[in-house]
Amino acid sequence: MQDFIQTLSEEFENIYFIEGEGKGNYPYSHSLLVGNTLIDTGVSGRRLRKIQKDFQIKTVVLSHWHEDHISGNNLFPSAKFICHEKDKIPIEDITQMFPYYRVQGEKAGEEFKTLFDMFGMQNTKISAFIADNEIIEIGNSLKLKVIHSPGHTAGHCGFIELNSKIAFFGDMDLTRFPYYASIDSNLMEYENSIDKLKDLGAETVVLGHKNPVYGKNNILSELDNFKSVIFKRDERILSNLSEKKHIRPIDLKGKNLIYRRYTYENFEIISELVMIEKHFEKFLKNGLIIMKNNGYILS
Ligand SMILES: [Zn+2]
Repeated sequence: MQDFIQTLSEEFENIYFIEGEGKGNYPYSHSLLVGNTLIDTGVSGRRLRKIQKDFQIKTVVLSHWHEDHISGNNLFPSAKFICHEKDKIPIEDITQMFPYYRVQGEKAGEEFKTLFDMFGMQNTKISAFIADNEIIEIGNSLKLKVIHSPGHTAGHCGFIELNSKIAFFGDMDLTRFPYYASIDSNLMEYENSIDKLKDLGAETVVLGHKNPVYGKNNILSELDNFKSVIFKRDERILSNLSEKKHIRPIDLKGKNLIYRRYTYENFEIISELVMIEKHFEKFLKNGLIIMKNNGYILS
């Protein structure tokens, strides 16, 4: 067995953590293999080809539409692909990712195009949809339950295998960087999804971009930390608002309120602005700000 394919529990030998290339950092991601069902295809083409030598993948479940989770779809021409209905559009037509990220006609859009070409990304036909609480039966005994956890994208799903309590949280990834910067992201849903994952009772969790976390309590405290990053962003953004001066999200563009420094500057400045807009939506809903003269003031 390849060293990037690891079992997570001695008792459940047919559930594997598949470590993504580059420790699963973007543009790669980690996968979970449950029997003959693979969750996400972003570990790298090289690794996916190696997996195919040992396993016959019949079904690929996609946690969400982002390119770093679906880049290897084309390597499974005979597998059945399933995802949540709300994430279907940019998976079936990857050119839709540009408007979804709001990078159409932008330099960041060209950079994306280069990445897509590098991965040889192709459109993927989805053959069935998964819904919240649905149980995907795998082999004789494995039961993979779908946890619709929107916010990162509208159709983002996590999963838990019910016998082993091994879960996959996808890009609710418990890193220091919660991300909700596509047009179908929603910050309030994101926070609700974190709470939903806390109620799962997961004992081991595989994450899109971080090493697995073991133990119920560790998982719960990491979910709390993850949420607290959002609250710190709330504070930073609110500290730029006042009761007098009308501020729009665009006025806060490029001020490093979310990214401490920009690595992929063209893209991250756009992402940051989209995320600031999501915080404004939340502030407005919670009555913390009010709209005035096309801008916002503290209420
Ligand atoms: Zn993602």
